Formats: sequence, C-alpha cells, structure tokens
Amino acid sequence: MGAVSGYDAIVVGAGAAGIFAARELGRAGARTLVLERGGALDDRRCPRRDGPDPCRRCVPCNLLAGWGGAGAYSDGKLSLSPQVGGFLAEFVGPPELESLIAYVDAVYREHGAPDRVHGADPAALEPLRERAGAAGMVLVENPVRHMGTEVCRQVLERLHHEVAGVAEIRFGAPCDGVVVRGGRAQGVRCGYAEIPAGAVVLAPGRSGTGWVAAVAAEAGVPTRPNPVDVGVRVECPARLLADVTDVLYEAKLYYTTPTFSDEVRTFCMNPRGEVVHEVYDGCLTVNGHAYAEARSDATNFALLVKTAFTEPFDDPTAYGRSVARLANLLGGGVLVQRFADLTEGRRSTAERIAKLAIPPTLHDATPGDLAFALPHRHLQDVIETLYALDVFCPGLAGDQTILYGAEVKFYSNRLALDRGLQTPVPGLYGAGDGVGVSRGLVQASASGVWAARSILGPGGAAG
Ligand SMILES: Cc1cc2nc3c(=O)[nH]c(=O)nc-3n(C[C@H](O)[C@H](O)[C@H](O)COP(=O)(O)OP(=O)(O)OC[C@H]3O[C@@H](n4cnc5c(N)ncnc54)[C@H](O)[C@@H]3O)c2cc1C
Repeated sequence: MGAVSGYDAIVVGAGAAGIFAARELGRAGARTLVLERGGALDDRRCPRRDGPDPCRRCVPCNLLAGWGGAGAYSDGKLSLSPQVGGFLAEFVGPPELESLIAYVDAVYREHGAPDRVHGADPAALEPLRERAGAAGMVLVENPVRHMGTEVCRQVLERLHHEVAGVAEIRFGAPCDGVVVRGGRAQGVRCGYAEIPAGAVVLAPGRSGTGWVAAVAAEAGVPTRPNPVDVGVRVECPARLLADVTDVLYEAKLYYTTPTFSDEVRTFCMNPRGEVVHEVYDGCLTVNGHAYAEARSDATNFALLVKTAFTEPFDDPTAYGRSVARLANLLGGGVLVQRFADLTEGRRSTAERIAKLAIPPTLHDATPGDLAFALPHRHLQDVIETLYALDVFCPGLAGDQTILYGAEVKFYSNRLALDRGLQTPVPGLYGAGDGVGVSRGLVQASASGVWAARSILGPGGAAG
C-alpha cells in the first residue's frame, strides 16, 4: 500500500462490493474509510415501498443507496455459478473466481444466509435441461442460495456490525471525485475537503454509473461500453412455473430468436415474489424480488434482450434510458399489459387487467400498450421467447400472463482494470457493478475482496 498520511484505503460505496472490500481491508489492519452517500439500513425509507405514497424520485433513491446498496432490498439470491452475475473471470481467471465465490458464500453463511442451495442436484436438473432443449432453449446450471429480502437485511445488519468494528463508515457522505497527483491516486474529494489515502476503491454500483464515468474521464482512465439489456418483466401464476422453481428456484434460460437471431435470457426469477419499481437517472423501470416468508401467488422474471451497438453509436446506456423514458411518457411510470392483449394488437385497460385471476403485484403500473414503447426488434424477441417458454412450461403464453415495461438493465461502462482490478492510475481500484465488473451480489462481493487483497499485496497485511 502507498504510504500517505490519512487512511490506507478509502472505499466509495457501501454495496456488496464496498462492504466486502472494507471488511477485507479492515480485518487485515488497514486504516479504512467507507464513504456512502445513502443512509444506514434503519434510515433507508422508501415512501412508496414502506408507505402508501407514490414514488417521489428521492435523491439518492433509498432503494438503491445506503448500507447494502442495491442489494439491501433485493431478493438476496446468491448465484454460485462463476458463469452467472458478471465478468470477474475475465480478470482473475475461472479457478480464482471459484475460490472467491466459495469465500464470499462462506461469509454470507457466517452472517446468517441459509444452508439450502437450490439447483445443485444434477439428477433433478437433467430432465429440465431436456425439456428446455425441446423448446429450443439452453438451461444453464446455476446453484442458488436464496436469502429472501428479510434475511438479506439481517445478514447486512450483521455485516455492518462487523465492518464498523474494523473500518470507519460515513453515511450521507457522497464522494465528489478522486485526487490524482503525481500520476497516482492520493485520496478523494468530498465537497471542498480532500481526504488523503494510499488507495481508493470505486464501488458505486449501477446507480453510480454516471459518477464513475466522470471520475474516469477526469483521471484519464479509459472505459468501454458494456451492452445494455432491454426487455420486460413477466408475471404469471406461480403454479405455471412451480415444477421448475421448486427444483431450481431460478431457471437461467437462453434463447436465440428466429427472426433477429438475438440472444434473449430469463433473469432474476422470483417465485411467489413481487414486482417493484427501480429508479435510474430519473427513469422508472421494473425489477422483482421475493420474501423468504411472505409469498404471493405470482412468479416474476425478466426477459432481456442483449443490445450492443457498432459504429458510430457507442452509448448503449443512453439508448436504454430512452426506451425507459418512452414507457414512462406513455404510462406516467411503468406500463403493464396482458400478453394476450399484446399479441392481439390491443392495449390493456383497467377492466381487462381486473379480469386476471391474480392481480398485478406492482399495483400502480398503468395498463397500456407495450407495442408503443418497445422497439419492434425487442418486442418481437420478447414475443418469440414467450412462445418458446410456453413449450418449456405450458400456459406461460396464456391469458394470465402479464408484461411490465420497460425493464432495462444498465451495465456500467467497464473501466480499464488490470488483474488486480487496479486502473492505469496507481492506487485507484474498481469493484462491483459500477465499474462494469459484476452484475450480481456474489461477483460484486468477490470483486471487492479481490480489489482489497490486491491493495494489501502478497503479504495480505496493512503496511
Ligand atoms: C430490486 C433488485 C433486486 C436484485 N436482486 C438480486 C438478487 O437476488 N441476486 C443478485 O445477485 N443480485 C440482485 N440484484 C443486483 C445486486 O443488487 C447488485 O448486483 C449489487 O448490489 C451490486 O453491488 P455493488 O456494490 O456493485 O453496487 P450497489 O449495491 O449499487 O452499491 C453501490 C453503493 O455506492 C453508493 N454510491 C454511489 N455513488 C457514490 C458516491 N459518489 N459517493 C458515495 N457513495 C456512492 C450507492 O449509494 C450504493 O449504496 C438486485 C438488484 C435490485 C435493484
């Protein structure tokens, strides 16, 4: 570690990546400061989620910012496959990633994550894989430890207690920039103050995408765009998918669509869960989660079309934002439509939605027509994939299935990072979703551990 007066390391962001980085640094004796622009868990209140009010588009959004980051209100599905949830293998290599996953999984369990792992039995998986094959889809093996939203919160509380014992944590403390002098990171800027440190870990999550891009530009760190995922959130009666979700909890299915040869995947499946809002950059999109105990009668999952561009356009994030804004413009927020209405070429109305046996779990979505909001290519991809899914699970393309839109997954631009997740600016590191390394809790946590170990050096001790 660089010898600078002040802190040995500053971690920006207290999501999964920042928490695991700070834990690793602090436990090794490094003087560590965590800066988090949101609040502690008890101070994170969402007017819509925790009360009867509509979304007030708070800044920062309490669903995304604060201790636990975007993971605090998540379903807490720990995906234990190295093929799922990010790109860390491209930096550290597959064997190292497997060992990091085992390490962070053990930490989650020590802090209260349940013992049960879904989808780890090959004998149970095989018939489902065959069924997916018959539907023209590929089912990817993905063992999942499901915490559920309420257990996830308890785990985060315990992690807070532990990290607070080895590192200083400041809430309501947005970091404005990184101080680079003499060609290396020397600390951070918060308002007019500079806080010196030997190393800085940028872990601002997807909600910090714009901020990290500005920091990278100022520090001269190259970035490259990651693709954006555009699609819908599907919700259907839980019984339709029960024989799959009872075994796997979450089915990771990939499909290549006949018309455009696009790759469409199922993502973030929440058996007996609920659909929720997500706010990015002032756009309302959708997401989903499930409690461990309070179960609904509906299962939701995303259908996402991977969307990359070639020259001259290289801003997939702006594209995704435009799609989300269009849906917001038409619906005043999130649109909801019965799949049957979509394929019959008509909008859904409040009356048609009221005829569903299971009402939408996102109560304030506006019945409308997704055909006005999603580009033709994405809409066609979604429709074709739902028909393929109907072969895998009969009934999925039926009249009880609804679609919410738009669901857009913004993956931050990827920073130029070496194997140790250090940028070309010595002392400046990146971890988690916000620097384009991960897109899930496990790989975000693993990247935080790896960046911290890289700062600590081979001896693993604070110097
Ligand atoms: C509703 C929902 C459900 C999800 N469900 C799952 C799931 O079941 N399983 C799964 O694996 N993944 C899930 N995810 C994704 C998962 O939450 C993320 O992959 C993970 O949280 C990424 O961790 P991170 O630390 O990189 O970023 P984040 O968790 O986003 O944390 C970043 C933190 O940095 C802070 N920050 C940003 N900029 C600054 C700044 N300038 N100064 C100070 N602080 C700053 C933010 O306030 C935030 O708290 C879900 C996400 C959502 C939104």
